[in-house]
Amino acid sequence: MKTYHVPIRTCVVCRQTSAKKTLLRVIRRPEKTGGGVAVDPTGRAGGRGAYVCASPECIEKAVRQRRFERSLNVPSVPAGLADELKALVPSAESVGATAP
Ligand SMILES: [Zn+2]
Repeated sequence: MKTYHVPIRTCVVCRQTSAKKTLLRVIRRPEKTGGGVAVDPTGRAGGRGAYVCASPECIEKAVRQRRFERSLNVPSVPAGLADELKALVPSAESVGATAP
């Protein structure tokens, strides 16, 4: 009988722990590759990572409450980070689509 190791990570907003693959990963890129913060859809990029639930609520809060900045120790995150993350939320069916 095999036992599978499931990596567990913690959401920076609600502190809920989940299997790594159900969370979205944001990484702080190494200075030599330009630095800054980026979404890591593969979960395999190197660098320091922070995790957030794949839910629009947690993504919004993470950005608004500057959780990524604090977790990754960076001064700011890209303006489009929340949208990039939300685009990765599975089955994003009618989640507050506020089209102008
Ligand atoms: Zn969360």
